[in-house]
Amino acid sequence: MEHLTKEQVEELKKDLVERREKLLEHMRQQIKDPSNVAFEGGDEIDRADLEEERFITFRITGREARLLKKIDYALRKIEMGTFGVCEMCGKPIPFERLKARPVTTMCIECKEYEEEHENE
Ligand SMILES: [Zn+2]
Repeated sequence: MEHLTKEQVEELKKDLVERREKLLEHMRQQIKDPSNVAFEGGDEIDRADLEEERFITFRITGREARLLKKIDYALRKIEMGTFGVCEMCGKPIPFERLKARPVTTMCIECKEYEEEHENE
């Protein structure tokens, strides 16, 4: 991620952390409604466990869980120094694109290619 300045990386990281917190807060609220929680094999669960982030990550399914995973993945990539590089072609992803969508793992060209060929 040499194409990004330290400041840009910090800004994106802050953005990701904020998104993560908002998402977790929303998930915590949702989890109070049992109809939103997917139980594997109908386990009896300890209510206290619901407050645990790890538990929420594994038990909540769908869009938000996927987004949370993407955010965690992006944060891990920042730590490893591989953030902001297209996973398909290896080209740097422009800051503007990352700013608009910090969880992205592909440049616009590859993303468009993938979407075009998704249903093949
Ligand atoms: Zn690419």
